[in-house]
Amino acid sequence: MDNPNPPRIGGEIPDSPDSEVPLADCLLNRTTPDRFDEWHDEREYAKNIENGTPYFNEAGYQPDSERHSPSKLLRCHRRQLYSDHNAPEEEPDPSGIFWTGSKLEEELLLPFLKDTAADLGAYVQNSIWVDYSIDTHAGPLQFKGSTDPVIVDAEATPILPTEIKTRATLDNLTSPNRTHRAQLHAYLVGLSEEYGIELRTGLIVYVSRESLDIQTFRVDFDEAFWEDVLLEWAATHTQHRLEEELPPATPEDEWECEYCSYRERCGEGDRNYSDATTTGLLPGYTGYPREKLVAYFRAYPDARLTPSLAFAHPDLVDDHGVYDWECSECDASRSWNSVEWDGNVTQPPRCPDCPKEGAIAVLRGPAAGDQLQGGDECETA
Ligand code: SF4
Repeated sequence: MDNPNPPRIGGEIPDSPDSEVPLADCLLNRTTPDRFDEWHDEREYAKNIENGTPYFNEAGYQPDSERHSPSKLLRCHRRQLYSDHNAPEEEPDPSGIFWTGSKLEEELLLPFLKDTAADLGAYVQNSIWVDYSIDTHAGPLQFKGSTDPVIVDAEATPILPTEIKTRATLDNLTSPNRTHRAQLHAYLVGLSEEYGIELRTGLIVYVSRESLDIQTFRVDFDEAFWEDVLLEWAATHTQHRLEEELPPATPEDEWECEYCSYRERCGEGDRNYSDATTTGLLPGYTGYPREKLVAYFRAYPDARLTPSLAFAHPDLVDDHGVYDWECSECDASRSWNSVEWDGNVTQPPRCPDCPKEGAIAVLRGPAAGDQLQGGDECETA
């Protein structure tokens, strides 16, 4: 008969076998969500080292103001600046989509490209690093990144770089996304410079995660697009980084807001925030995924939880500390756990030091821009 209350996997059973504990129980105890997360994090860490990108493992990595990644060109400047400063993200990473994308590339598209190239006496290099500098009116700008598979000749000289992207479906796909064209343009320039050749054409391949069908687009180098759009975007973004002012909330493509992980911070979310600085947690906002909070504290070890986040994540309190409540009307501040509150962010606690009559005085955490003393932040414009 089944045990109506089976022990929770990962509970009390030891995870090393001995005469008392069967191997199966130990295995069950090791195949838990927490252990999987730990294993996955370690694997990603090792992969960044294998791929020559160990800096992705550094807590709080921030690019130099003149450095640009081909995969981030033409993004909303505000979104990119939040990302540059490791602002706390409001959505979890779509890790499953990333993983599926790299598997589809490795196990489906790469073999297809290899076979196609081999039929014509060519080869495929999995990826090639580009790292080059271009003089612009904002000074020299650096472009550094890694291509997708590149079809090469017998001397390993690039013939046709590809950019592989996955989508849920290929429905209504009539032209390549401009950010994908931008990325490919940056690789065409970098590969041309690196190999002393004139590479003018690339290939974008879209794969449907649903059907595994593909759609391909030839991309020819467009000088005006490169000079007037891409280099201009990069120069402007470098200026935003140097001026340390929050760029306007004006993405070229409005759909970008839908997928942006800083909607609340920016002012496009459902709550009453707008134009928040590039660092600091939004007071009263508890929607941050736990792993994003942890990433934020790794980037900013002096940061603390807001009082409302302390109620939502009490297990993080000992490691990171908590800012005091501040009154919206008087100068009073109170430690986070000295105030009775049920954690309902739509009804913040009242200030016990303000008069009962008159203005409604509520307690909240400090504004995002006031949280890090001498912090690395951009002011709102
Ligand atoms: S919500 Fe839209 S405008 Fe705001 S940072 Fe994100 S992409 Fe840019």
